[in-house]
Amino acid sequence: MKNTSLFFIPLFLMLVSFNTEPLNQKNANAVVVIKADRLITGDGKEVLSPVVVITNDRITAVGPSSSIKIPKGAKVIDLKGQTLMPGFMDAHTHLASIDDDGGDLAALKETPAHGAIYGTINAKKTLEAGFTTVREAGSLDYVDVAVRDAVNRGLIPGPRIHASGPSLSTTGGHADVNGWSPFLDLPGTGAIVDGVDEVRKQVRRNVKYGSDHIKIVATGGILSVGDAVGAPQMTDEELAAAVGEAKRLGRKVMAHAHAGEGLLAAVKAGVSSIEHGSLVDDEAIAEMKKRGTYLVPTLIILEEIERDGEKKGVPAYAMVKAKAIAAERRVRLRAAYEAGVLFALGTDATSDIHGRNGEEFRYMVEILGATPMDAITIGTLSTAKLLGVDKDLGTVEVGKLADLVAVKGNPLSNISILAHVDFVMKGGVVVKLKD
Ligand SMILES: [Zn+2]
Repeated sequence: MKNTSLFFIPLFLMLVSFNTEPLNQKNANAVVVIKADRLITGDGKEVLSPVVVITNDRITAVGPSSSIKIPKGAKVIDLKGQTLMPGFMDAHTHLASIDDDGGDLAALKETPAHGAIYGTINAKKTLEAGFTTVREAGSLDYVDVAVRDAVNRGLIPGPRIHASGPSLSTTGGHADVNGWSPFLDLPGTGAIVDGVDEVRKQVRRNVKYGSDHIKIVATGGILSVGDAVGAPQMTDEELAAAVGEAKRLGRKVMAHAHAGEGLLAAVKAGVSSIEHGSLVDDEAIAEMKKRGTYLVPTLIILEEIERDGEKKGVPAYAMVKAKAIAAERRVRLRAAYEAGVLFALGTDATSDIHGRNGEEFRYMVEILGATPMDAITIGTLSTAKLLGVDKDLGTVEVGKLADLVAVKGNPLSNISILAHVDFVMKGGVVVKLKD
Protein backbone atom coordinates (compact mmCIF):
# COMPACT_ATOMS: atom_id res chain seq x y z
CA MET A 1 0.00 0.00 0.00
CA LYS A 2 2.76 2.37 0.95
CA ASN A 3 4.44 1.78 -2.37
CA THR A 4 1.26 2.41 -4.31
CA SER A 5 0.58 5.81 -2.76
CA LEU A 6 4.18 6.90 -3.33
CA PHE A 7 3.77 5.95 -6.93
CA PHE A 8 0.62 7.99 -7.35
CA ILE A 9 1.98 11.29 -6.09
CA PRO A 10 4.52 11.83 -8.87
CA LEU A 11 2.08 10.44 -11.44
CA PHE A 12 -0.51 12.98 -10.32
CA LEU A 13 2.02 15.82 -10.51
CA MET A 14 3.02 14.69 -13.98
CA LEU A 15 -0.56 14.76 -15.18
CA VAL A 16 -1.05 18.24 -13.78
CA SER A 17 2.08 19.62 -15.41
CA PHE A 18 1.32 17.98 -18.75
CA ASN A 19 -2.17 19.40 -18.83
CA THR A 20 -1.71 23.04 -17.93
CA GLU A 21 0.07 24.28 -21.04
CA PRO A 22 -2.16 22.96 -23.81
CA LEU A 23 -5.26 24.00 -21.83
CA ASN A 24 -4.04 27.58 -21.49
CA GLN A 25 -3.28 27.75 -25.17
CA LYS A 26 -6.72 26.48 -26.12
CA ASN A 27 -8.75 28.64 -23.74
CA ALA A 28 -7.27 32.04 -24.32
CA ASN A 29 -7.25 33.55 -27.79
CA ALA A 30 -3.69 34.80 -27.46
CA VAL A 31 -3.06 37.75 -29.74
CA VAL A 32 0.51 38.92 -30.30
CA VAL A 33 1.55 41.82 -32.48
CA ILE A 34 5.07 42.16 -33.84
CA LYS A 35 6.43 45.44 -35.14
CA ALA A 36 9.76 45.78 -36.93
CA ASP A 37 11.67 48.09 -39.30
CA ARG A 38 11.39 45.76 -42.25
CA LEU A 39 9.71 42.52 -43.28
CA ILE A 40 11.07 40.16 -45.92
CA THR A 41 8.10 38.00 -46.79
CA GLY A 42 9.90 34.89 -48.09
CA ASP A 43 8.60 35.24 -51.64
CA GLY A 44 10.84 38.11 -52.66
CA LYS A 45 8.84 41.02 -51.28
CA GLU A 46 9.84 43.68 -48.76
CA VAL A 47 7.50 45.63 -46.46
CA LEU A 48 8.77 48.67 -44.51
CA SER A 49 7.46 49.39 -40.97
CA PRO A 50 5.52 46.14 -40.92
CA VAL A 51 3.02 44.91 -38.37
CA VAL A 52 2.28 41.20 -38.05
CA VAL A 53 -0.72 40.05 -36.00
CA ILE A 54 -0.66 36.52 -34.64
CA THR A 55 -3.67 34.80 -33.11
CA ASN A 56 -2.68 31.65 -31.27
CA ASP A 57 -0.32 29.89 -33.70
CA ARG A 58 -1.27 31.55 -37.01
CA ILE A 59 -0.72 34.87 -38.75
CA THR A 60 -4.05 36.74 -38.93
CA ALA A 61 -2.95 40.08 -40.38
CA VAL A 62 0.18 41.49 -41.98
CA GLY A 63 1.05 44.76 -43.72
CA PRO A 64 2.62 48.19 -43.29
CA SER A 65 1.77 49.80 -39.92
CA SER A 66 -0.44 52.38 -41.65
CA SER A 67 -2.82 49.65 -42.84
CA ILE A 68 -3.06 47.37 -39.77
CA LYS A 69 -5.20 48.05 -36.70
CA ILE A 70 -3.61 46.73 -33.53
CA PRO A 71 -6.23 44.62 -31.70
CA LYS A 72 -7.12 45.69 -28.17
CA GLY A 73 -5.37 43.76 -25.43
CA ALA A 74 -2.76 42.34 -27.81
CA LYS A 75 0.75 41.76 -26.52
CA VAL A 76 3.06 43.97 -28.58
CA ILE A 77 6.65 42.98 -29.36
CA ASP A 78 8.54 45.92 -30.83
CA LEU A 79 11.59 44.77 -32.78
CA LYS A 80 13.03 48.22 -33.43
CA GLY A 81 15.90 48.26 -35.90
CA GLN A 82 15.23 44.68 -36.92
CA THR A 83 14.25 42.77 -40.04
CA LEU A 84 11.55 40.16 -39.73
CA MET A 85 11.48 37.03 -41.92
CA PRO A 86 9.79 33.63 -42.06
CA GLY A 87 11.45 30.92 -39.94
CA PHE A 88 14.49 29.57 -41.79
CA MET A 89 14.60 26.02 -43.11
CA ASP A 90 17.49 23.60 -43.46
CA ALA A 91 16.83 20.68 -45.81
CA HIS A 92 19.94 18.72 -44.83
CA THR A 93 20.79 18.16 -41.16
CA HIS A 94 22.19 15.34 -39.03
CA LEU A 95 20.94 16.30 -35.58
CA ALA A 96 22.30 13.18 -33.87
CA SER A 97 25.90 14.01 -34.73
CA ILE A 98 28.14 16.15 -32.56
CA ASP A 99 31.67 17.55 -32.61
CA ASP A 100 34.23 14.91 -31.73
CA ASP A 101 31.88 11.94 -31.84
CA GLY A 102 34.64 10.23 -33.78
CA GLY A 103 33.03 10.04 -37.22
CA ASP A 104 33.06 6.42 -38.41
CA LEU A 105 34.49 5.34 -35.08
CA ALA A 106 31.35 6.49 -33.29
CA ALA A 107 29.82 3.27 -34.63
CA LEU A 108 32.33 1.34 -32.49
CA LYS A 109 32.04 3.39 -29.31
CA GLU A 110 28.53 4.75 -29.08
CA THR A 111 24.92 3.67 -28.81
CA PRO A 112 21.69 5.28 -30.06
CA ALA A 113 21.42 6.83 -26.58
CA HIS A 114 24.41 9.04 -27.39
CA GLY A 115 22.70 10.15 -30.59
CA ALA A 116 19.50 10.99 -28.72
CA ILE A 117 21.40 13.24 -26.29
CA TYR A 118 23.29 14.95 -29.11
CA GLY A 119 20.02 15.32 -31.03
CA THR A 120 18.38 16.98 -28.03
CA ILE A 121 21.24 19.48 -27.70
CA ASN A 122 21.41 20.19 -31.42
CA ALA A 123 17.65 20.59 -31.86
CA LYS A 124 17.72 23.48 -29.37
CA LYS A 125 20.78 25.10 -30.99
CA THR A 126 19.18 24.83 -34.43
CA LEU A 127 15.90 26.40 -33.32
CA GLU A 128 17.71 29.24 -31.54
CA ALA A 129 19.64 29.93 -34.77
CA GLY A 130 16.26 30.72 -36.38
CA PHE A 131 15.77 27.40 -38.15
CA THR A 132 12.22 26.44 -37.31
CA THR A 133 12.06 23.54 -39.78
CA VAL A 134 14.70 20.97 -40.74
CA ARG A 135 14.86 17.87 -42.89
CA GLU A 136 17.10 15.09 -41.62
CA ALA A 137 19.43 13.45 -44.14
CA GLY A 138 20.09 10.07 -42.59
CA SER A 139 19.86 9.21 -38.91
CA LEU A 140 20.90 5.81 -37.63
CA ASP A 141 18.52 3.88 -35.37
CA TYR A 142 15.64 6.33 -35.98
CA VAL A 143 17.12 8.78 -33.47
CA ASP A 144 15.67 11.67 -35.49
CA VAL A 145 12.20 10.12 -35.21
CA ALA A 146 12.53 10.10 -31.41
CA VAL A 147 13.83 13.69 -31.30
CA ARG A 148 11.02 14.81 -33.64
CA ASP A 149 8.38 13.15 -31.46
CA ALA A 150 9.84 14.67 -28.28
CA VAL A 151 9.76 18.14 -29.87
CA ASN A 152 6.19 17.62 -31.09
CA ARG A 153 5.08 16.54 -27.62
CA GLY A 154 6.60 19.68 -26.17
CA LEU A 155 9.14 17.76 -24.07
CA ILE A 156 12.19 19.49 -25.55
CA PRO A 157 12.72 22.64 -27.65
CA GLY A 158 13.49 22.11 -31.31
CA PRO A 159 12.50 22.85 -34.89
CA ARG A 160 9.78 21.07 -36.85
CA ILE A 161 11.73 17.95 -37.81
CA HIS A 162 11.17 15.95 -40.96
CA ALA A 163 12.75 12.63 -40.02
CA SER A 164 14.54 10.38 -42.50
CA GLY A 165 15.58 7.41 -40.37
CA PRO A 166 18.68 5.62 -41.70
CA SER A 167 19.81 6.42 -45.23
CA LEU A 168 19.93 3.58 -47.76
CA SER A 169 23.41 2.72 -49.00
CA THR A 170 24.93 -0.20 -50.90
CA THR A 171 27.60 -2.49 -49.41
CA GLY A 172 30.86 -0.54 -49.49
CA GLY A 173 28.98 2.64 -50.38
CA HIS A 174 29.22 6.12 -48.89
CA ALA A 175 27.13 5.24 -45.82
CA ASP A 176 28.92 1.95 -45.16
CA VAL A 177 31.93 1.87 -42.81
CA ASN A 178 34.80 0.82 -45.05
CA GLY A 179 38.50 0.08 -44.84
CA TRP A 180 38.33 -2.31 -41.88
CA SER A 181 39.02 -6.03 -41.58
CA PRO A 182 36.29 -8.25 -43.06
CA PHE A 183 36.44 -10.17 -39.76
CA LEU A 184 34.87 -7.24 -37.94
CA ASP A 185 31.11 -6.99 -38.14
CA LEU A 186 30.69 -3.22 -38.43
CA PRO A 187 27.37 -1.49 -38.88
CA GLY A 188 27.09 1.19 -41.57
CA THR A 189 26.27 4.80 -40.86
CA GLY A 190 23.09 4.03 -42.83
CA ALA A 191 21.11 0.88 -43.66
CA ILE A 192 23.16 -1.32 -46.01
CA VAL A 193 20.96 -2.69 -48.81
CA ASP A 194 21.75 -4.53 -52.04
CA GLY A 195 19.28 -5.37 -54.77
CA VAL A 196 15.74 -4.19 -55.34
CA ASP A 197 14.11 -6.41 -52.71
CA GLU A 198 16.35 -5.14 -49.91
CA VAL A 199 15.85 -1.56 -51.08
CA ARG A 200 12.06 -1.96 -51.07
CA LYS A 201 12.08 -3.63 -47.68
CA GLN A 202 14.20 -0.88 -46.14
CA VAL A 203 11.94 1.85 -47.54
CA ARG A 204 8.98 0.01 -45.98
CA ARG A 205 10.83 -0.39 -42.68
CA ASN A 206 11.73 3.31 -42.60
CA VAL A 207 8.12 4.31 -43.18
CA LYS A 208 6.94 1.75 -40.63
CA TYR A 209 9.22 3.26 -37.98
CA GLY A 210 8.29 6.87 -38.64
CA SER A 211 10.36 8.34 -41.49
CA ASP A 212 8.78 11.32 -43.22
CA HIS A 213 10.90 10.85 -46.35
CA ILE A 214 13.63 8.54 -47.66
CA LYS A 215 17.34 9.35 -48.00
CA ILE A 216 19.41 7.33 -50.45
CA VAL A 217 23.10 7.36 -51.30
CA ALA A 218 23.41 7.39 -55.09
CA THR A 219 27.13 8.12 -55.50
CA GLY A 220 30.42 8.05 -53.62
CA GLY A 221 31.24 10.78 -51.15
CA ILE A 222 34.03 12.82 -49.66
CA LEU A 223 34.16 11.41 -46.14
CA SER A 224 33.99 7.76 -47.23
CA VAL A 225 36.99 5.51 -47.80
CA GLY A 226 37.85 4.21 -51.26
CA ASP A 227 35.07 5.59 -53.43
CA ALA A 228 35.22 8.30 -56.10
CA VAL A 229 32.83 11.21 -55.47
CA GLY A 230 31.02 10.66 -58.77
CA ALA A 231 30.96 6.86 -58.75
CA PRO A 232 27.43 5.49 -59.10
CA GLN A 233 26.63 3.28 -56.10
CA MET A 234 23.07 2.21 -56.78
CA THR A 235 21.93 0.50 -59.96
CA ASP A 236 19.11 2.01 -62.01
CA GLU A 237 16.89 -0.80 -60.74
CA GLU A 238 17.72 -0.03 -57.10
CA LEU A 239 17.07 3.69 -57.65
CA ALA A 240 13.73 2.93 -59.31
CA ALA A 241 12.80 0.59 -56.46
CA ALA A 242 13.58 3.25 -53.83
CA VAL A 243 11.64 6.00 -55.59
CA GLY A 244 8.76 3.70 -56.61
CA GLU A 245 8.26 2.24 -53.14
CA ALA A 246 8.57 5.65 -51.47
CA LYS A 247 6.01 7.08 -53.88
CA ARG A 248 3.57 4.27 -53.14
CA LEU A 249 3.91 5.10 -49.45
CA GLY A 250 3.52 8.84 -50.01
CA ARG A 251 7.15 9.75 -49.39
CA LYS A 252 9.69 11.81 -51.33
CA VAL A 253 13.29 10.70 -51.85
CA MET A 254 16.40 12.80 -51.30
CA ALA A 255 19.58 11.52 -52.96
CA HIS A 256 23.18 12.07 -51.93
CA ALA A 257 24.92 12.56 -55.30
CA HIS A 258 28.03 14.53 -56.16
CA ALA A 259 28.56 14.06 -59.88
CA GLY A 260 28.42 12.16 -63.11
CA GLU A 261 26.35 9.18 -64.13
CA GLY A 262 25.15 8.43 -60.60
CA LEU A 263 23.76 11.92 -60.14
CA LEU A 264 21.98 11.87 -63.51
CA ALA A 265 20.57 8.40 -62.83
CA ALA A 266 19.11 9.57 -59.50
CA VAL A 267 17.48 12.57 -61.21
CA LYS A 268 16.04 10.33 -63.94
CA ALA A 269 14.73 7.91 -61.30
CA GLY A 270 12.61 10.78 -59.96
CA VAL A 271 14.18 11.83 -56.66
CA SER A 272 12.91 15.15 -55.30
CA SER A 273 16.34 16.57 -54.50
CA ILE A 274 20.02 16.07 -55.21
CA GLU A 275 22.16 16.62 -52.10
CA HIS A 276 25.60 18.25 -52.62
CA GLY A 277 25.50 18.09 -56.47
CA SER A 278 29.13 19.22 -56.47
CA LEU A 279 30.01 18.58 -60.11
CA VAL A 280 26.52 18.67 -61.62
CA ASP A 281 27.02 18.65 -65.42
CA ASP A 282 25.01 20.31 -68.19
CA GLU A 283 23.03 17.16 -68.99
CA ALA A 284 21.97 16.78 -65.35
CA ILE A 285 21.15 20.50 -65.12
CA ALA A 286 18.82 20.20 -68.11
CA GLU A 287 17.17 17.09 -66.66
CA MET A 288 16.73 18.71 -63.22
CA LYS A 289 15.12 21.78 -64.79
CA LYS A 290 12.77 19.61 -66.84
CA ARG A 291 11.69 17.58 -63.80
CA GLY A 292 11.75 20.31 -61.15
CA THR A 293 14.41 18.47 -59.12
CA TYR A 294 15.87 20.59 -56.32
CA LEU A 295 19.57 21.03 -55.65
CA VAL A 296 20.65 21.26 -52.00
CA PRO A 297 24.27 22.45 -52.30
CA THR A 298 25.48 22.09 -48.65
CA LEU A 299 28.03 24.86 -49.17
CA ILE A 300 29.15 25.54 -45.60
CA ILE A 301 30.35 22.02 -44.87
CA LEU A 302 32.39 21.64 -48.05
CA GLU A 303 33.88 25.13 -47.73
CA GLU A 304 34.87 24.42 -44.13
CA ILE A 305 36.33 21.00 -44.93
CA GLU A 306 38.46 22.57 -47.67
CA ARG A 307 39.56 25.44 -45.44
CA ASP A 308 39.83 23.95 -41.95
CA GLY A 309 39.61 20.19 -42.53
CA GLU A 310 43.18 19.38 -41.52
CA LYS A 311 42.83 21.35 -38.26
CA LYS A 312 39.55 19.63 -37.52
CA GLY A 313 40.97 16.17 -38.06
CA VAL A 314 39.29 15.33 -41.37
CA PRO A 315 41.20 12.25 -42.65
CA ALA A 316 43.84 12.77 -45.38
CA TYR A 317 41.95 10.69 -47.99
CA ALA A 318 38.91 12.94 -47.58
CA MET A 319 41.00 16.12 -47.78
CA VAL A 320 42.45 14.93 -51.11
CA LYS A 321 38.94 14.38 -52.49
CA ALA A 322 37.56 17.68 -51.18
CA LYS A 323 40.45 19.74 -52.55
CA ALA A 324 40.45 17.98 -55.93
CA ILE A 325 36.90 19.13 -56.69
CA ALA A 326 36.88 22.46 -54.83
CA ALA A 327 37.32 24.93 -57.67
CA GLU A 328 35.16 23.06 -60.17
CA ARG A 329 32.47 22.51 -57.53
CA ARG A 330 31.94 26.25 -57.17
CA VAL A 331 31.82 26.73 -60.94
CA ARG A 332 29.30 23.91 -61.48
CA LEU A 333 26.98 24.90 -58.64
CA ARG A 334 26.90 28.47 -59.90
CA ALA A 335 26.18 27.18 -63.42
CA ALA A 336 23.21 25.21 -62.07
CA TYR A 337 21.93 28.24 -60.20
CA GLU A 338 22.30 30.52 -63.21
CA ALA A 339 20.60 27.97 -65.45
CA GLY A 340 17.52 28.16 -63.22
CA VAL A 341 17.67 24.85 -61.34
CA LEU A 342 15.51 25.03 -58.18
CA PHE A 343 17.61 25.40 -55.03
CA ALA A 344 16.85 24.67 -51.37
CA LEU A 345 19.00 25.54 -48.36
CA GLY A 346 20.91 22.68 -46.74
CA THR A 347 24.00 22.78 -44.55
CA ASP A 348 24.78 19.09 -43.91
CA ALA A 349 24.95 20.23 -40.27
CA THR A 350 27.13 17.79 -38.36
CA SER A 351 29.80 18.37 -35.69
CA ASP A 352 30.07 22.06 -34.83
CA ILE A 353 27.84 23.39 -37.62
CA HIS A 354 24.65 22.92 -35.55
CA GLY A 355 23.53 26.40 -34.54
CA ARG A 356 25.60 28.03 -37.30
CA ASN A 357 23.17 27.00 -40.06
CA GLY A 358 22.54 30.67 -40.89
CA GLU A 359 26.07 31.02 -42.25
CA GLU A 360 24.86 29.09 -45.32
CA PHE A 361 23.08 32.24 -46.60
CA ARG A 362 26.38 34.06 -47.05
CA TYR A 363 27.82 31.18 -49.07
CA MET A 364 24.77 31.17 -51.34
CA VAL A 365 25.48 34.80 -52.16
CA GLU A 366 29.25 34.33 -52.52
CA ILE A 367 29.37 31.01 -54.36
CA LEU A 368 26.09 30.74 -56.26
CA GLY A 369 25.93 34.46 -57.02
CA ALA A 370 22.43 34.72 -55.51
CA THR A 371 21.15 38.12 -54.45
CA PRO A 372 20.55 38.38 -50.69
CA MET A 373 16.79 38.49 -51.39
CA ASP A 374 16.97 35.30 -53.43
CA ALA A 375 19.15 33.57 -50.83
CA ILE A 376 16.43 34.31 -48.25
CA THR A 377 13.72 32.96 -50.58
CA ILE A 378 15.80 29.78 -51.06
CA GLY A 379 16.13 29.35 -47.28
CA THR A 380 12.41 29.88 -46.68
CA LEU A 381 9.76 29.42 -49.40
CA SER A 382 11.82 27.26 -51.80
CA THR A 383 12.84 24.86 -49.04
CA ALA A 384 9.23 24.79 -47.81
CA LYS A 385 8.14 23.75 -51.32
CA LEU A 386 10.73 20.97 -51.43
CA LEU A 387 9.50 19.72 -48.05
CA GLY A 388 5.88 20.01 -49.16
CA VAL A 389 4.94 22.37 -46.33
CA ASP A 390 4.51 25.64 -48.24
CA LYS A 391 0.76 25.72 -47.54
CA ASP A 392 1.53 26.35 -43.86
CA LEU A 393 5.08 27.70 -43.81
CA GLY A 394 7.76 29.49 -45.83
CA THR A 395 6.26 32.98 -46.09
CA VAL A 396 4.84 35.61 -43.74
CA GLU A 397 1.25 35.53 -44.98
CA VAL A 398 -2.22 35.52 -43.46
CA GLY A 399 -3.30 31.97 -42.63
CA LYS A 400 0.21 30.54 -42.27
CA LEU A 401 1.80 29.29 -39.07
CA ALA A 402 3.61 32.00 -37.14
CA ASP A 403 7.20 30.81 -37.54
CA LEU A 404 9.20 34.03 -37.58
CA VAL A 405 12.76 35.22 -37.07
CA ALA A 406 14.36 38.65 -36.82
CA VAL A 407 17.88 40.03 -37.06
CA LYS A 408 19.32 43.43 -36.20
CA GLY A 409 19.96 45.45 -39.35
CA ASN A 410 19.20 44.79 -42.99
CA PRO A 411 20.25 41.42 -44.47
CA LEU A 412 19.67 42.79 -47.98
CA SER A 413 22.76 44.95 -47.51
CA ASN A 414 24.68 42.50 -45.29
CA ILE A 415 23.75 38.85 -45.69
CA SER A 416 26.19 37.71 -42.95
CA ILE A 417 23.87 39.01 -40.22
CA LEU A 418 21.54 36.05 -40.83
CA ALA A 419 24.02 34.00 -38.82
CA HIS A 420 23.04 36.05 -35.72
CA VAL A 421 19.34 35.81 -35.07
CA ASP A 422 17.89 37.88 -32.22
CA PHE A 423 14.27 36.79 -32.28
CA VAL A 424 12.66 33.42 -32.95
CA MET A 425 8.99 32.48 -32.81
CA LYS A 426 7.67 29.00 -33.59
CA GLY A 427 3.93 28.45 -33.99
CA GLY A 428 3.15 31.72 -32.20
CA VAL A 429 5.40 30.91 -29.22
CA VAL A 430 8.44 33.12 -28.59
CA VAL A 431 11.50 30.89 -28.40
CA LYS A 432 14.18 33.57 -28.29
CA LEU A 433 14.03 37.31 -27.67
CA LYS A 434 17.26 39.25 -27.19
CA ASP A 435 17.15 42.74 -25.69
ZN1 LIG B 1 24.63 14.64 -45.11
